[in-house]
Amino acid sequence: MRVFTLEVPAEAQWGEGLVSFPKGEIVRVDGRLESVHEGILVTGTADAQSVGECGRCLTDIAEHVEVEFQELFAYPGDEATDFEVQDDHVDLEILVRDAMVLSLPFQPVCQPDCPGLDPNTGERLTISTETEQREPLDPRWAALQDYSKDHDDKASRSGVDHTEES
Ligand SMILES: [Zn+2]
Repeated sequence: MRVFTLEVPAEAQWGEGLVSFPKGEIVRVDGRLESVHEGILVTGTADAQSVGECGRCLTDIAEHVEVEFQELFAYPGDEATDFEVQDDHVDLEILVRDAMVLSLPFQPVCQPDCPGLDPNTGERLTISTETEQREPLDPRWAALQDYSKDHDDKASRSGVDHTEES
């Protein structure tokens, strides 16, 4: 068994969605190679920084991504396999790239409750992700909040029970 750590730049952009790993981004791979009967079993983790934009408000976002992978690289033989040992080497690029790209979110957001863009003005409704911006509810809305709670309660109680029919 052999343990290894690699830090290599992506040779091209990985991923084509709203977020991707840019060309040249350093991908760190920690793993181990185990000799097994059929070939070499590769197990490890890979991590790198993904960049892109929020799918709702188009704010630039960057997120650290870490994935796990495991694959058997078979010794060349009669049966065709996805991954093969070649000249006593295993080529991890496709394996790592696919694992990383598949882990990228299909609809990335800058924050889970990103409100997106104002449909009228096209401006961002997001104030900021900074915690300082989380201001208490404007007291002028407090009465309305109570109203809407009462309203919901009444609505849910309005259902009539029709279990008895005679
Ligand atoms: Zn957003």
